[in-house]
Amino acid sequence: MGTLGDRRATAEIIRRYQFDFRKKFGQNFLVDDSILDKIIEAADITRDDCVLEIGPGIGTMTQRLAEEAGRVIAVEIDRNLMPILNETLADYDNVTVINDDILKVDIPALAAQHGSKRMKVVANLPYYITTPVIMALLERNVPLQSITVMVQKEVADRMTVGPGTKDYGALSLAVQYYTKPEIITEVPADCFVPKPNVDSAVIRLTRYDAPPVSTEDERWLFMLIRASFNQRRKTLANGIANAGIGIGRHQVEETLAQMGLSATVRGEALTLEQFAELSNRLLPLRS
Ligand code: SAM
Repeated sequence: MGTLGDRRATAEIIRRYQFDFRKKFGQNFLVDDSILDKIIEAADITRDDCVLEIGPGIGTMTQRLAEEAGRVIAVEIDRNLMPILNETLADYDNVTVINDDILKVDIPALAAQHGSKRMKVVANLPYYITTPVIMALLERNVPLQSITVMVQKEVADRMTVGPGTKDYGALSLAVQYYTKPEIITEVPADCFVPKPNVDSAVIRLTRYDAPPVSTEDERWLFMLIRASFNQRRKTLANGIANAGIGIGRHQVEETLAQMGLSATVRGEALTLEQFAELSNRLLPLRS
């Protein structure tokens, strides 16, 4: 069979299986070989790698991954795609397809089961779950080397920006705490069928061995960050005080002053380093 990145090959499979696209699963299949090439190149896969693909669809990228990687584990929620994947992946003996919801899969257990200490994630993500998937993958106990994914362009921007921009928030800080993010390429909507309403981008997140800032309690750092951005129109001190996490407004204001920051500063003005310092200073003050 020819490559599925070809628009006609994809249309033929869809027609032959009478496959109905399900909007609720974010099904926009990639039909552009040059974008596939860029994703595969950016993911830098070798025979030593175990790749986790989230949402293989009809197997377009899965085929390419199987040609490069030692092992591919592809998790697909839609039962109707199973017979198609059976056909399109029949020639590869290093692919395991799991019919499940990625948000319910125990990824560290999956990696261990397949004898992999560290995995690479490669995916054209279903956009409705981008943030929860990325957050779950970034958690400390998930053994990952890199995440190379197609996301909405706007989300790729949020992952890469720094303080003082409207896109900067909890996602930017989490991504930049755990990884080095790089936008690989922008992808116009007409590279997919059906065509989505938004433009997309491929982003690679390369995991740090150690985070770029030091914090005494990672969970507390992220509780503070979430609280700081919960009420974007409020000051950081009010946001934290209103979150009910055991810190009062005056404690935040005093700590900000010790750090040389204004009492009325907003979350979007603080760098990752400043959040780490704030969290370390507030930790012993928690009630
Ligand atoms: N990889 C294919 C491609 O590039 O053409 C399909 C990408 S499509 C944007 C997203 C895929 O993720 C769909 O096949 C969809 O059914 C699947 N999906 C959606 N939600 C999922 C979930 N919670 N867990 C696993 N797969 C999911």
